[in-house]
Amino acid sequence: MALEISFTSLMVLIGEVTVVVILSLILFAFLLVALTAVSIRNGRLYFPRVLKSGFYMLEGVVRGLTRLFGISDRELVSFFIRLQNSMNTTTFETVPVDHRAIFLPQCLRSSKCPAHLTPEGLKCQNCGQCPTGEAILRLQEMGYRVFIVPGSSFIQRMVQKYRPGAIIGVGCIVEVKDGLEMCDRLGIPGIGVVTQKDGCVETLVDWGEVCDVARLGLPPAPLPRKDDHPPAG
Ligand code: SF4
Repeated sequence: MALEISFTSLMVLIGEVTVVVILSLILFAFLLVALTAVSIRNGRLYFPRVLKSGFYMLEGVVRGLTRLFGISDRELVSFFIRLQNSMNTTTFETVPVDHRAIFLPQCLRSSKCPAHLTPEGLKCQNCGQCPTGEAILRLQEMGYRVFIVPGSSFIQRMVQKYRPGAIIGVGCIVEVKDGLEMCDRLGIPGIGVVTQKDGCVETLVDWGEVCDVARLGLPPAPLPRKDDHPPAG
């Protein structure tokens, strides 16, 4: 009889604890949504660490609830990327540039791109048919290891091979989000740059933004000296 009562009490206790946990999670989800909505509206990040761990724990619930606040999935993912970028910047800046890697999506290339597929990704010929070639040269001059990604497993392979200390990932919004999550799992500070135009061919990215991110933590480029200019006439 005593055993039966203690078993019943245990079940009641488990039930009560479960209800408390569920209610706490719902409350936490509402708090996250409110923080996200205020952050998006004010263009500022409030309690970024809470937001980040909350997104990882309750992404599905937060996604559903933010829709009720009129925040689209795209806005939410953009916000998540901004959050990750901002939280990773300080660590990213401390990594020497020759330990950093940049992954570019192949869709940035011209549809007539003559680049060859190699085990290290697509090798740009700098043929002038798209701005990628010039941008790659500039990034390589800074000291970056630059890859044009031919397929989904490529990044993980190159990360295992070269073990970069920091990564810049360019891609569509979903690719950048997945890439930042991968960096997080691997403990690598990642910064994402989202392309301006989605699609599979001839997409666009703001190369100025890519270069600004690439320069994080680097000494400012020296201004050209007066006597560097060729004499007029
Ligand atoms: S510049 Fe490079 S990436 Fe662009 S089309 Fe030419 S070879 Fe391809």
